[in-house]
Amino acid sequence: MKQLVIIVFILNMVTPSAGYTQKGNYLLKPARVFDGKNMHEGWNVFVSNGIISEVGANIKPSGTYTTIDLPGTTMIPGMIEGHSHILLHPYNETSWNDQVLKESFAERVARATLHLKNSLLAGFTTLRDLGTEGAGYADVGLKKAVDEGIIPGPRLIISTRAIVATGSYGPKGFADHVDIPLGAEEADAGNIVKVVRSQIGKGADFIKVYADYRWGPSGEAMPTFSEEEIRLMVETAKSGGRYVVAHASSHEGMRRAILAGVETIEHGDGGTEAIFKLMKEKNVAFCPTLAAGDAVLQYNGWKKGSEKEPLRITEKRKSFQLALESGVKILAGGDVGVYSHGDNVRELELMVDYGMQPEDVLKAVTSGNAQILHMQDRIGSIKPGMLADLVAIAGDPTKDIKVLRQVKFVMKDGKIY
Ligand SMILES: [Zn+2]
Repeated sequence: MKQLVIIVFILNMVTPSAGYTQKGNYLLKPARVFDGKNMHEGWNVFVSNGIISEVGANIKPSGTYTTIDLPGTTMIPGMIEGHSHILLHPYNETSWNDQVLKESFAERVARATLHLKNSLLAGFTTLRDLGTEGAGYADVGLKKAVDEGIIPGPRLIISTRAIVATGSYGPKGFADHVDIPLGAEEADAGNIVKVVRSQIGKGADFIKVYADYRWGPSGEAMPTFSEEEIRLMVETAKSGGRYVVAHASSHEGMRRAILAGVETIEHGDGGTEAIFKLMKEKNVAFCPTLAAGDAVLQYNGWKKGSEKEPLRITEKRKSFQLALESGVKILAGGDVGVYSHGDNVRELELMVDYGMQPEDVLKAVTSGNAQILHMQDRIGSIKPGMLADLVAIAGDPTKDIKVLRQVKFVMKDGKIY
């Protein structure tokens, strides 16, 4: 109880409106530390003014500091969600179409502030957000509000509106004389350079392109942009210090995006042995978003546990297995927003269920994701010099991934939430 008392005391004494302590000096004493790659029994972590300054057994920092005992817990680097939509909420609450067309930006932002808080308290201290889905540049404002301490939330890496080929994206099904706002920004060969530059100018940390979409004659996923068009986006983004990632589910959509130079492929349901081999060769990471399919199929009536697995799940298991065997880098990201924010661990549980070792999943969601996001010098590991993004979990997640739901302590940037 002693450690609990200390935390509550700190929160009551110095809590500003956003619900966190100020940066200070803290000696954190969990049972063990997972540093992003390996487990160390009996290690402690010393945080000084927002930065991890000492790590190891028997560390004895000088000066004044607060000691926080976290018995029985595993301290891990703050987790990194690889694929979120902070401006969406579960489709079984409100369909995607209705979110885009009927919810005001004000409502969507109000919801997003809660989504951010829930993500942070679930131990996710960084989110790579893959598009506002019709909410314009609202992610830019949300990111600023978090950075300025106005609302609690994870550090955001944002893509703003995302880019789709003309005619491919929804909402669809309206009379042709009705102008409908879309879930992303249209571009084609003639204006791709301008659209990429304008998204960067408005605050995009990276560019997301839909390399295919369900716009085939029977609603199947078919490629949208040509390889040349995607390459032009990549070159334009690169010269501004940004990278491009691609939504791609079809074999051909994936192939074009990989050859055009994107850094990650999202979903990748149509991935084959040859495609994953090509990804490994070109150093393109794979974000499988297992939880999105799992959720949508249940929204459509699949009774998981009591009914046979739908073909789409069986095939996803197979392609994920092929990806694991190929050695392609796996980015942990679930498309959270399709399901509840704060339930991010659902993806990690499915990664284990589909054949990945818990320890590898834990590496992926910390140091692995950090490396793929080019942020390995700041986050994803517990070692001196890194930002103090630290989470304590009751139990050992390398033995049972589910314990990642038992979050006992969250620190982001040296502040305790
Ligand atoms: Zn998504």
